[in-house]
Amino acid sequence: MDPRGHTRRQILKGAIGAAGIALGAPVRRLIAAPAQAVSEGAGIQPLSDNLFVLKIPGESNVVARTGADGVLLVDGGSARAADALTKAISGLPGGGPVHTIFNTHWHPEQTGSNEQLGKAGKTIIAHENTRLWLTTDVTWPWNGQQFKRLPKIAQPNRTFYTTGALDPGVRYGYIPDAAHTDGDMYVYFTQQNVLAVGDAVSGQGWPIVDYATGGWIGGIVGGLQRLQTLANEATRIVPGRGPVLGLKDLKAQYEMYGTIYDRLTQLLNKGRGPGEAVAAQPTKEFDAQMGNPDEFVRRAFESLWAYVSPDA
Ligand SMILES: [Zn+2]
Repeated sequence: MDPRGHTRRQILKGAIGAAGIALGAPVRRLIAAPAQAVSEGAGIQPLSDNLFVLKIPGESNVVARTGADGVLLVDGGSARAADALTKAISGLPGGGPVHTIFNTHWHPEQTGSNEQLGKAGKTIIAHENTRLWLTTDVTWPWNGQQFKRLPKIAQPNRTFYTTGALDPGVRYGYIPDAAHTDGDMYVYFTQQNVLAVGDAVSGQGWPIVDYATGGWIGGIVGGLQRLQTLANEATRIVPGRGPVLGLKDLKAQYEMYGTIYDRLTQLLNKGRGPGEAVAAQPTKEFDAQMGNPDEFVRRAFESLWAYVSPDA
């Protein structure tokens, strides 16, 4: 199949038809886990005396900074975990009411506390693209999963385009490569040398390439390169899921995704389709460490179509 000469929409339809509807691991991750999972205690990983990673079972990482003015969050778990998160925050040393939350992107696993916090008049900061995705319904073309827009009160009430600072200790910025979505952002805690990056970096298993809202495999490579320039040897990097990473992990991931990107673009240039890309095993030497790559390879390949077709 030659993508040239087709419109982007036709190409994506073709891709979906070829891929069929498959619920792989990355998709299941976004579907509600059993209720008892959130009633279990949250794990708290201190990064300093006032900065913590909150790990609620089945949820994405939440970063919390405590202070005299209250608590600052990077991401807020899914809606069903809002109460568990509130409980975990109140248990933090120096914990108090949340005054600000960053949404590293629009996914429900990051924005589930927005409604509660918005109603309480708190500040919700995100890239403008993230706000826009939260004002509209989204359907993932590869599995039909639907996401409802958030009520106005739950939408980010402070947005930015490039960079910003909340106070001298918190700088944030856009990750324009679109590693995961086109609204990805980082939050850098200067005193603690901690960089929270959301799902722009996966710390556990193959990432979701959400090309429905702008993410693509080239963006994963570009984002990893960019984030290395923001980090040093001592920086602790908190991804959306998985353990805290270091600069050497970003370097290793950059090499790996760069290799995969090259192979997929070669397959694309030969006119191959997603099924053929999976069959070509472009991630072969990484699979033992990373797990079954099939869904990732399909999404990554389809994301290339979305980017390289002439009218995209
Ligand atoms: Zn995500």
